[in-house]
Amino acid sequence: VDAVTLMAVSKTRSAEEVAAALAAGITDVGENYLQEALDKKVQLDARNLTPCWHFIGPIQSNKTRDIANQFDWVHSIDREKIARRLNEQRPAELPALNICLQVNIDRETTKAGVLPEEAAGVVAALVQFPRLRLRGLMAIPQASDDPEQQRARFAAVQQLQNQLREQFPQLQLDTLSMGMSSDMEAAIAEGATIVRIGTDIFGPRAPATPH
Ligand SMILES: *Cc1c(COP(=O)(O)O)cnc(C)c1O
Repeated sequence: VDAVTLMAVSKTRSAEEVAAALAAGITDVGENYLQEALDKKVQLDARNLTPCWHFIGPIQSNKTRDIANQFDWVHSIDREKIARRLNEQRPAELPALNICLQVNIDRETTKAGVLPEEAAGVVAALVQFPRLRLRGLMAIPQASDDPEQQRARFAAVQQLQNQLREQFPQLQLDTLSMGMSSDMEAAIAEGATIVRIGTDIFGPRAPATPH
């Protein structure tokens, strides 16, 4: 197993809690909601705490400018239009924005992401954006308590990534963003390179507040 990056998912957590995680060695932080993320980032920047910031939530068009300015990675790309805006708005002085294409691997109506058979078409569109660097796929498979079933879902994501590697050999698709607190072992067994962990780092979340 190659090194796996542990992303601390800090939605609903305070800047203080994130600072404590960084002090404990966390290097990568993921946020779902832009305003919440910006509030925390200002506080952490002021203390010279500069982790690698990942955006992992749904993206509305009017949020792309701040995301393009403030984040290092975006995992929740699922349409060309949003990618086009991020490409246009990524500041010239920053490196290209790392992105993952989110795939709705289990075709769930409640989940974001492109369907597996749509992925190659969207990748073909994404490669034309010089200020974005497509790194791989992100997925949130259907929840299951059965490790075998978890592994089968993650294996499907890895298989899709391998297909895309063959179709787009010019891309360095080196990232599989998959696995959360309840299924990270299965994800790592199936090739995850970034796991996104909230509960197992910070403890249970309070009920979601409206955004
Ligand atoms: C909240 C969240 C996580 C972390 O979930 P936990 O079960 O708390 O580890 C990971 N990925 C995404 C996209 C999330 O929204």
